[in-house]
Amino acid sequence: MINKIEIQPYQVAKKYRCNLCDRLEKVEKRLVVWRKNQVVGDLLLCNPCLETIVEIIRGKEEIIEEWNFRGGE
Ligand SMILES: [Zn+2]
Repeated sequence: MINKIEIQPYQVAKKYRCNLCDRLEKVEKRLVVWRKNQVVGDLLLCNPCLETIVEIIRGKEEIIEEWNFRGGE
């Protein structure tokens, strides 16, 4: 696979300024963009923006969601 978008969850959600809507929000996941098997960049997105982006992208690029959570450890 050459191009993909990967959603990486943070172990601990922190407050970041969302790269899209510019609000200071709790960010639980980041969106990493791969091109030709190299990371092009990443986006810190609040949940509403992430959901929107994922909906737009879905069906056009492959989306891999990786869930590393193991509960409340
Ligand atoms: Zn946002």
